[in-house]
Amino acid sequence: MMPDTKPIADLTTSLTYLPGIGPQRAKMLEAELGLRTFGDLLFYFPYKHIDRSRIYSIDELTADMPFVQLRGEILSYEEEGEGRKHRLIAHFTDGRSVIDLVWFGANAIKWTRRSYHTGTIYIVFARPSLFNGRINLPHPDIEDASKLRLSAMGLQPYYHTTDRMKKGGMNSRSMERFTQTLLTRYDIQLPETLPASLVQRLCLVDRTSSVKNLHYPTTADELRRATYRQKFEELFFIQLGILRFSRKRQQEVYGHVFGHVGELFNTFFHQHLPFELTGAQKRVIREMRHDMGSGKQMNRLLQGDVGSGKTLVALMTMLIALDNGYQACLMAPTEILAEQHYATFREMLAGMPVRVELLTGNVKGKRKRQPILDGLRNGDVNILIGTHAVIEDTVEFSNLGLVVIDEQHRFGVAQRARLWQKNDTPPHVLVMTATPIPRTLAMTLYGDLEVSIIDELPPGRKPIETQHYWEERTEALYHGLRTEIAKGRQAYIVYPLIKESAKMDMKNLEDGYEHLCQVFPDLHLSKIHGQMKAAEKDAEMQRFINGETQMLVATTVVEVGVNVPNASVMVIQNAERFGLSQLHQLRGRVGRGAEQSYCILVTKYNLSSDTKKRIRIMCDTNDGFEIAEADLRLRGPGDLEGTQQSGVAFNLHIANLARDGQLVQMARDTANEILDQDPEQNLPEHASMWRHLKELAQTNIDWSNIS
Ligand code: ADP
Ligand code: MG
Repeated sequence: MMPDTKPIADLTTSLTYLPGIGPQRAKMLEAELGLRTFGDLLFYFPYKHIDRSRIYSIDELTADMPFVQLRGEILSYEEEGEGRKHRLIAHFTDGRSVIDLVWFGANAIKWTRRSYHTGTIYIVFARPSLFNGRINLPHPDIEDASKLRLSAMGLQPYYHTTDRMKKGGMNSRSMERFTQTLLTRYDIQLPETLPASLVQRLCLVDRTSSVKNLHYPTTADELRRATYRQKFEELFFIQLGILRFSRKRQQEVYGHVFGHVGELFNTFFHQHLPFELTGAQKRVIREMRHDMGSGKQMNRLLQGDVGSGKTLVALMTMLIALDNGYQACLMAPTEILAEQHYATFREMLAGMPVRVELLTGNVKGKRKRQPILDGLRNGDVNILIGTHAVIEDTVEFSNLGLVVIDEQHRFGVAQRARLWQKNDTPPHVLVMTATPIPRTLAMTLYGDLEVSIIDELPPGRKPIETQHYWEERTEALYHGLRTEIAKGRQAYIVYPLIKESAKMDMKNLEDGYEHLCQVFPDLHLSKIHGQMKAAEKDAEMQRFINGETQMLVATTVVEVGVNVPNASVMVIQNAERFGLSQLHQLRGRVGRGAEQSYCILVTKYNLSSDTKKRIRIMCDTNDGFEIAEADLRLRGPGDLEGTQQSGVAFNLHIANLARDGQLVQMARDTANEILDQDPEQNLPEHASMWRHLKELAQTNIDWSNIS
């Protein structure tokens, strides 16, 4: 064997020192991809590999093949079509048959003609597509066959790059050169981070070869095993960090002990409750009673689909706090919602010795605020309901025992943390959300939140019927609306309002409103959007709630929590512009009474395939969990509402929460086992693992933010 004379790579070395990079490219790599060191580059994994070992013949191609490679030459060029259909065609032959390579766009055409010539042997790489019954190859990758070392290539890595990089002359190929240089010039030796026993038991490949093979595997199996090892490692350390943090907190943080269920709870349950609790509501209340009586601080996420009756659960949980001599507070994301909760609470608790107060930005002036603030400080106020106004510094509680946060995704972690500081012993925390978070994601984002699920709707609800209308079909839509309103029902008409196109959207809403006023001159319409003054907005909303108006034309301000049981139609205009979970939230505004409700998704005619899928899912199911799973698959977890604000800033290089659910579970179980075996975190065989966790925590995970 040849002695290995390559220097061992110091992974902290700046990329400027890698041959072929230099200061300018290094700057670009850092700005665009956050890559600064050899180590960063090493862990910048390709997003796919393409099998470059096989050359197809043109006769073999079918339209449903993924990428294929051909070898041959261009016979001639030709331009066809006018305007947007203008295209360049290269007749390409592999010596036996001919196929067309196709380019659209003036730049691409110019560039292609300049770069590729007849008479040269090329390797062409493309995805076959069907055009007028014939297969062609649109926008292929082309390379000079004499310059491509195919045999060495096998599986070729593809790396993500940004538009700016591409403009600066750096593409996936450049990245490939960089990683190749790194791996061939240097000896890569990564310390093992997982305990040897674990590596053995799970049959994992060692860390060094897995990282190398993620870039340049020689077989598909090698790639598969490398991917598995690296995904496991990534998820394992996230779970280890979360679980270690939550165990520590459970040991150190004490919670108020709500030892008994008392007078208020029982009176409410036996005399005030207007209906029977659902089985799921009962179970969830039991779970929380257990938590709050345990001496540990409760941190619970309550998931329940829209309309499943979370508010009532919150109210009854608060009564337990009151029965034990504590105050409780409910935080809602919008004023409309806070006011609605306030009204509900007042009504449900009427006649009981419970003082409920409302604190929002609308409650202005010392005369109105001061008595509330005083009452909170001296304990006269039992329940405070409000918006983020409740976490202002002027708000002091006498003994806050429970905080309920409704529709969690609108609240950041920092805001939650401030609530904690309002007491020496932190209050119990109940976070309620109607955006069901798939289990794998919840486990990762809220590793130390317990999760309760209300998986049952109150009886007598008819499933909402969802229909898709093209925007041209206004007659049918208006007819449907008229029929429902004639029955005494009410309807929401929702328009999108997206920051980037706010002006256009406002115009759409205004035009829509005017138009509906003309179509339905005999009806009363309300209009609500985010740019109205709060008081105005509330007044309009109130008119709709009271039934004075039959239609509410609005932006997505009605998305969350609004409860008008008499409303039975939800029309969503430009539904193609909403995400799945948003559509589901909006739909949840109807179907709250005993009547058959309808959700009409109105879209333009031309839809992308992802949009079609979204609309189909909405029409097919009312199940929020199914929708959340689909949403995760379609969009990826990075976009999920709430992820941003959850405060979890870990980077997943390779694992995917949507696809690797099983592995998340396994990583979590394994992390739990390790913590059981090594509670003091001092077993020598785990030393490198704990060290690695610490390094990770310093670079990208702030565990203390998760709560
Ligand atoms: P969400 O979970 O979306 O916040 P709400 O708490 O607003 O749902 O409840 C929706 C509606 O269902 C309310 O009008 C509420 O009074 C009613 N409700 C709640 N629990 C029950 C129950 N067990 N039986 C019948 N109706 C219920
Ligand atoms: Mg609610």
